[in-house]
Amino acid sequence: MILLILFVFIIFFLNYILPHLVKKFWRRQLLKWVSDSGKIFLTFDDGPEISTTGQILDFLKTHNIRATFFVLGVNVEQNPALTQRILMEGHTIGIHGENHLHPWKILPWKGMSDLYNGNKILKKYGIRAIYVRPPYGKLNLFSLIYILINRLTFIHWNLDPKDYNQNESTKLSTLLKDQIQSGKIILLHDGRRPGTFSGDITVKGLESFLQSTRISPHLFSQLPINGIY
Ligand SMILES: [Zn+2]
Repeated sequence: MILLILFVFIIFFLNYILPHLVKKFWRRQLLKWVSDSGKIFLTFDDGPEISTTGQILDFLKTHNIRATFFVLGVNVEQNPALTQRILMEGHTIGIHGENHLHPWKILPWKGMSDLYNGNKILKKYGIRAIYVRPPYGKLNLFSLIYILINRLTFIHWNLDPKDYNQNESTKLSTLLKDQIQSGKIILLHDGRRPGTFSGDITVKGLESFLQSTRISPHLFSQLPINGIY
């Protein structure tokens, strides 16, 4: 019985606690870098999607702002031209997995295979990603191992306006106006998961924010293509 309890504890520690502690360490390191940079990093997850990503790219171009897109493999396969457009317009692309599987709710090794497959699809289109944001920003043992083996940089955030949960774009734009400042890495979504509010909220909220903000475009930056450490 004691051996069973010990076994369960070791598995629990290795798959959840250890990756969580590593994540906290990496997050602290990242946020220090973000803060020292004095820049603002817009990041967009779960795309690319035809209905939203193109419009977001249009706004970013109009305002001469670069951002970072953590794309899903399934969406890249569906929208390869849009994925190329992200790169062509000077933005950075990072890995967000293939199917957006929650690392804590699947068999541990699927955390690795989801990242592997997402990255494989990017490579198929000639994209070499160096940044990774696992779905929900969470790690398990196998996704941690994948990141370490491939020397990827884990990217979290320090501003989450929960755009997928907003039902009015004005609420989102107000939130962005009130909270965006230098030293922030902002989590937004150009793709939508089932059961969340429309991507139109993000598009309109972002458009309104960009039109009214007094922040200089020079303060916005994508994650550097050559890495941050
Ligand atoms: Zn996501």
